[in-house]
Amino acid sequence: MSVSASNIDASASSADRTIVAGLPMPEFRKIGVEPISGACGAEISGVDLRQPLSPDVLDEIMLAFEHFLVIVFRDQDLTPEQHKTFSRHFGEITEIPQAPTYGDHRDMQEVRREAHEPENVVPSFESFHTDSPFLLQPPLGIVMRALAVPKFGGDTAFSNAYLVYEDLSDSMKALVDELQIVYSGKHIWSNNEKLPPEKRLRLRESHDFREDELENIHPAVRVHPRTGRRALFANTAYFQRFVGWTEDESRALLNYLQSLAQRLHYHCRVKWKKDTLIVWDNRFLLHRGVHDFKYERRHLIRTTLKGERPIGPSDFSQAK
Ligand code: MN
Repeated sequence: MSVSASNIDASASSADRTIVAGLPMPEFRKIGVEPISGACGAEISGVDLRQPLSPDVLDEIMLAFEHFLVIVFRDQDLTPEQHKTFSRHFGEITEIPQAPTYGDHRDMQEVRREAHEPENVVPSFESFHTDSPFLLQPPLGIVMRALAVPKFGGDTAFSNAYLVYEDLSDSMKALVDELQIVYSGKHIWSNNEKLPPEKRLRLRESHDFREDELENIHPAVRVHPRTGRRALFANTAYFQRFVGWTEDESRALLNYLQSLAQRLHYHCRVKWKKDTLIVWDNRFLLHRGVHDFKYERRHLIRTTLKGERPIGPSDFSQAK
């Protein structure tokens, strides 16, 4: 039996291509791209984000972002305006109701722990999560830059939610493909008030969101609107229940799904240095800060990028 030439070519090229983040490694000619792990994340080099970027450099940055879901740039001493200008390549900058804003910049937020302050992370943010899933259009991503970091520790870890989904059995995929989740941010402020003062989160004091904008229903499996690739979009932060399920049933399945994201082979971990800038996807990637430092200041500033309304498997097939 003869084998056609095209079959030989296909098998040869797949053997040549490294798989990272679940897909064959793209070719980059204009920027340096060094994967951080086999699961997600890449360090980008050869780019000065203070300068205007040429279209072909920008195309490769976008390709790296889509492929690796989190991209890391070192030594980027940007002004807030330069930070915003770079952010706008990825999408529109948006506000979120809960995170404290950075100085006079209402369109930037800050994550800050002073050296004298205790760890005050609420348990749901000690786990992998996506930011603000309770909004109708949760953020597409976050662009974050370090102003001050501990000498050791205070990393941010990421978990690739495409890979979590892709490793599920076909039967479990069929179950979660149909599920919808109620996410709510309505209780952020009242829950914070119940904590002892030293445990409270630093929250934004006022915002322009209406109460009904803080709770929404989203698919448990999120589909990339262009590629159709599926990822698990179920995690504990702001989770209320699966639609049509009791709270007990919901918690049991959620705990299982959340546990999958903890597996190390879905992760990468980024060590911050002063002027490290990270762009991460908030749709198909989970993140968490690692609060393993004490008596040191950690100060990160960020923009938040507006995302699309999440679409699930049935929305995607209807749109085709
Ligand atoms: Mn977060």
